[in-house]
Amino acid sequence: MHYIPYGRQDINDEDIQAVVEVLKSDFLTTGPKIAEFEAQFAEYVGAKYAVAVSSGTAALHIACMAADIKEGDEVITSPITFAASANCVLYCKGTPVFADINPLTYNIDCGQIEKLINERTKAIIPVHYAGQPCDMDEIHRLADKYHLMVIEDAAHALGATYKGKMIGSLSDMTEFSFHPVKHITCGEGGMVTTNDEKLYESLKRYRTHGITRNQQEMTEYDGEWYYEQIALGYNYRVTDFQTALGASQLKRVEQFLKRRREIAAKYDRAFQNIKEITIPYQMEQTNSSYHLYVIQVDKSIRKQFFEYLRENQIGVNVHYIPVYTFPYYRANGYAAIKCQKAEQFYASAISLPIFYRLTDEEQDYVINKVIEFIQG
Ligand SMILES: *Cc1c(COP(=O)(O)O)cnc(C)c1O
Repeated sequence: MHYIPYGRQDINDEDIQAVVEVLKSDFLTTGPKIAEFEAQFAEYVGAKYAVAVSSGTAALHIACMAADIKEGDEVITSPITFAASANCVLYCKGTPVFADINPLTYNIDCGQIEKLINERTKAIIPVHYAGQPCDMDEIHRLADKYHLMVIEDAAHALGATYKGKMIGSLSDMTEFSFHPVKHITCGEGGMVTTNDEKLYESLKRYRTHGITRNQQEMTEYDGEWYYEQIALGYNYRVTDFQTALGASQLKRVEQFLKRRREIAAKYDRAFQNIKEITIPYQMEQTNSSYHLYVIQVDKSIRKQFFEYLRENQIGVNVHYIPVYTFPYYRANGYAAIKCQKAEQFYASAISLPIFYRLTDEEQDYVINKVIEFIQG
């Protein structure tokens, strides 16, 4: 068997055509394609506004800036995530605080969140791990009670639904990523969605150096050419050819999701009666977008299991190493932090291949190799 990665993009001729058209046009960056992609994306997730940027990480960073995270502020997030979910708080000189996970859903445990809230707490960054939505009603109840901002990390959750509503429409701000392993890709790219006009205006400013061209925001007005820098932002712009790719990909998102859910259901059926394997939990009233398909095995065999699958050309992976255990975090105040459930999960988790182009034959091969190891 050829090598099967755990995730990969699907690019068709229409996608290529969309990019080529932009390359032949007048604008390579900050042309019409960005606004088109933003409008199409906002409509898809049911948000009023969307701001496209150069990566999911940049999206989290401008969201933290728009939420006014600064030195002394604490932001609660999950340790079972990509480092960006916490790094974005550090970029703003805030303090990420890690709440342990719920061992059933692998998402942040809302009971743990409340224990960590104090007068310094400013926001919550829930991460919809693998595409399984967090308990958003409970997170919003806590946010209302303690006056906190909610920035959802939905890098895994494009197309996921919570109680019939699309992820991206629910909180103050929601971040998405268009890295090639995600549901749709721009090569690199990210998005923040919001329903709040003020947040929308600040997100746009932070994307481009903190510059405004809106006369109402200026201290003076010198003429047509005039603009002002009124905050410190960055260059987080995404190019037109990247957003042309994203817009073309977004047309097929339902097709992508359908296939991912089919693959997940087939893995579920194959493994549900094997006692050595824990399959993902399906929370009621939610519909996962299955960015990842993660199973758990006994931690004593995980390493061997991983190596066996890799030797057999199966590109399994482990998502994620608890963020606070990284040397950088340990050296910066997190050495004594321990989230027991997150660490147990990390020790036993393994991500199997799941992506639109995975064929039935490839999946059957993966299933057979998994069972062969477990029962062999
Ligand atoms: C992919 C990802 C991001 C953002 O990643 P970029 O590579 O910067 O687009 C953020 N959070 C999580 C959980 C992710 O998986």
